[in-house]
Parts: sequence; structure tokens; C-alpha cells
Amino acid sequence: MNLDLAQDLLKNRFGFDAFRGVQAEAMQSLAAGTNTLAVMPTGGGKSLCYQIPAAMGDGLVLVISPLIALMKDQVDQAKKFGIRARAINSSISRDERESAYRSLKQKSVDLVFVTPERFRKSEFIEAIKAHPIRLLAIDEAHCISQWGHDFRPDYTRIKDWRKELGEPLTIALTATATPEVQKDISDQLGISESAVFVSGFERENLAVQSHFVYGLEEKVRSVVGLSHQNPGPCIIYFALIDTLRKTSAELRRLGFEHLVYHGQLKDHHRRSNQEQFLKGKVNLMLATPAFGLGINKADVRQIIHMEMPGSVEAYYQEVGRAGRDGQPASCHLLYDPDDVTIQTDFIKWANPEPSFIRKVYQMIEDYPDRILVEGYDYMRNQLHFYHSRDFRLETAVNLLKRWDCIHQIDHRPNEIKAIEAPPAEFLQEAHHKARLQRQQLKLLDMVRLAQKEGVDLKPEIYNYFEGNSISAGDE
Ligand code: ADP
Ligand code: MG
Repeated sequence: MNLDLAQDLLKNRFGFDAFRGVQAEAMQSLAAGTNTLAVMPTGGGKSLCYQIPAAMGDGLVLVISPLIALMKDQVDQAKKFGIRARAINSSISRDERESAYRSLKQKSVDLVFVTPERFRKSEFIEAIKAHPIRLLAIDEAHCISQWGHDFRPDYTRIKDWRKELGEPLTIALTATATPEVQKDISDQLGISESAVFVSGFERENLAVQSHFVYGLEEKVRSVVGLSHQNPGPCIIYFALIDTLRKTSAELRRLGFEHLVYHGQLKDHHRRSNQEQFLKGKVNLMLATPAFGLGINKADVRQIIHMEMPGSVEAYYQEVGRAGRDGQPASCHLLYDPDDVTIQTDFIKWANPEPSFIRKVYQMIEDYPDRILVEGYDYMRNQLHFYHSRDFRLETAVNLLKRWDCIHQIDHRPNEIKAIEAPPAEFLQEAHHKARLQRQQLKLLDMVRLAQKEGVDLKPEIYNYFEGNSISAGDE
């Protein structure tokens, strides 16, 4: 790989003036033939790190990416820059897939996106071996880490596939900045000698503070006060839709114009609310954390958390949506110690016990007809749920789907078919315990951060991203 050519492509093909963040360092490192881990914030430009090598056009760039849903956009974006790109996954037709395999064999493609599950198919392995891989890119590489929030068992097999492909030059890309996850990524990929580049994530224009505030009434009063102080565009984040609704009702009663965004709204409603906020028609948005992912609004002036998130990483990602224009913005965490239990419940439900997952699989195998008629309620009744917000069943079904153990048609969720029982290696008790513990420790750091009332939280957060725990404080 040639560095001058990379510069030239950046200006003339991509139309950008300069590399951003650690793009230049990553290109340089790859040009020297070194395996590389690049950490850049969301929206920082990680894709360019594999698009430029693909644009050079002398060998295949293979990207492993976790989500089929995002691949179409990734392919379209690459095509815009004149790169011959394709995605190979289960959502394209058999004809398309065969044509993609042919183009691999004929070397008429520069950039291919697949999920790690694709490596289970022998036709794919056969086709991919016909075209020498000049660069293997692992996008969203934190999925490989036991300690990442999106752990995917199939990602852990990449190491073996990489060996089988003759250990091609590799770049891992992620936005997760903890040293622990970084080390795990390199270890799991078998690229422990790799160079690591981390884009600066300091955000000096943000003022970040925590306040002890007890109960909804006092929180709403704080929101009203803060909105008067800082009338610019503001996002208020909630962990629970229920609290969001109650707050919305209260603000409406007080005559505060605002929008809402959460998973229980109809698609078109959600989209139109988002649109109104982006266009600056209404400046106050009440949302769950999904709002803001991939959204381009540079002038958000204030972020208020009505309920704390489950980790410092999540918190920093959410406040990071303020002040993207570089102008001052303020972030306020309204901390009620009672809210900690919301997150302990979330951790429990996001990590169902191995025995629970086995039970769900067994029901799908044994009673597909009952599920077809009665839906998830049938399973829920069999599983004895105590809490209305418990989403373990949904998590278990999603995991089984991801592992290819069951088949479910997206728009007919009751039509579930068992394929094969989950392999024992995915359901190890020790792993389950270790994951729970990790997440509980992350929550503990978040709680300690929240307890630092009235001081600038940024130094603590930066220190955390250096690999240190948040100090317990001396009260
Ligand atoms: P992510 O790191 O989240 O994967 P993307 O790769 O999707 O981010 O990039 C986000 C946006 O930044 C894209 O629109 C991309 O074209 C743009 N971008 C990437 N690199 C540069 C650059 N060097 N200069 C200007 N814009 C860039
Ligand atoms: Mg990306």
C-alpha cells in the first residue's frame, strides 16, 4: 500500500482536504504492513480506513461487519466513491449471491462486506480464497470482546478464519475506547503485535456536571430551570419510556413545547419528530438513548439525563452528541440513587442465564404451533415472569436468531422455527457470570461518577478512558 497514493485518492477521489483523527496514522501503519487497531468516535470516519485501500484497486478488501441492516448503506457509500463494492448476506437473493461469488472468482470486486456468520458457508470460503485479500477490516471490532456491550460469539472465530486465509494484513475499527477492550480485540484477533491509534476524544467545549435530585417532581423542576438558563436545542435522555411519558405529560401541563422519541412510537411519528428537531422547529426533545445515533445536528446546546445510563462509556457517548459545532454546551446528570436499580435490572435482563436460553429454544422446538397462535405470550406464561419490563425473552430469541439456531421472519414474529440447539460453547455458565460481573463493575463506575456532585466530571471521565476506575470519593 502506498501512502502518496492514499493522499492523492483522499483529495481527488473522496474530495476531502485532509485526513481526520487517526486516519493518517492508520494509513501509514497499514502501508508499513503492520496490523492496526484504530479507535475513532462514531462519525469520526472509520470507513475511510478500508475505503481508501479498496479504492487502490489491486486486491480485495474484505470487511466484517455486524449488521446486515447497515450493509446496504455501506455499499452505496463506497459506490459513490467509485469503489466496486458488494455485500454478501442472507438478505440478498440466491442469484445475487451467486453473482457475487462469481465476481469474487473473477476478481471484479474491490470491497466486500460480510457478517462473521458468512464464514460458515463453504461456497463463500471457496470464492474468497480465489481472490487474494490485501486487507481484512473488522468493523465494530468491540463485538469480538467479551467485555464489549455487543459481544457476538461468531466474532471470536474470526481468528481461525484469518489463519485459514493466510493471515492477511488486518485493521480493526471501533469507537470503544477502554484499554481493556482494545487489548481484548488484539488478543482475540491474534494480532497482538498490532499498532494502536486512538483519536482524541477530549471535548473541551462540554461542561459536564452531576446533581443529586430526588424524585420525578424535583427532576421536572430542574429541567424547567435548566431550559430557561440554556434555551438552545436540548435533548433529555431517559432510561425508561414510562418516565419519559410522565415527564412529557408534566411538561405539557406546564406549557413547555417539546417532542418525544422512543421505541413505542409508530415509525412515521418518530421520523417526523426527529425531523422537526433536526430542523430546529422545536428545541426540546425527550428521548431514549437510541435517539442521536448517527444523527447530524451540530448545535445541540444541552443534554440532560433524567436517569443515569449503565456505564461511563454510554454516558460519554450520549453527552458527546452535544456541541458538535465546537461551541459551548452543557450536560447535566440528574442523579437519584433510586435509579441505580433500573440499570441493575437492565443488566440482568440483557444477560439471560444459559438455562433460560436453553428453555426458550426447547419451547420453540417443541411448541411452534402454540407460539404461532398465541405468540410470545405463550412463552411468557410458561416462563413465569415477575416484572412487566423484563425483556429476557426478547433477548434470548434475538441471540438464538443471531446464532442461526432459529429462523424467524421479521414481519411475522410468531412464525419461529427451530434449526439446531445452541452449541454448549455459547452457553457457558462461567462466561455468563463473568459478563454480569463486568457490567456490574461498569455500573459501579457510573454510580461513582454520578456521586461527584457539582464538579467538572470530564477529568474523571478522561481518566476512566485511560483504564482507571472512577475514584470512590471521600464522603
Ligand atoms: P464512523 O467512524 O462512525 O464509521 P463514517 O466512516 O461513517 O464514521 O464517517 C462519517 C462521515 O465522515 C462520512 O460522511 C464520511 O464521508 C466523513 N469523513 C470521513 N473521513 C473524512 C475526512 N477525512 N474529511 C472529511 N469528512 C470525512
Ligand atoms: Mg462505521
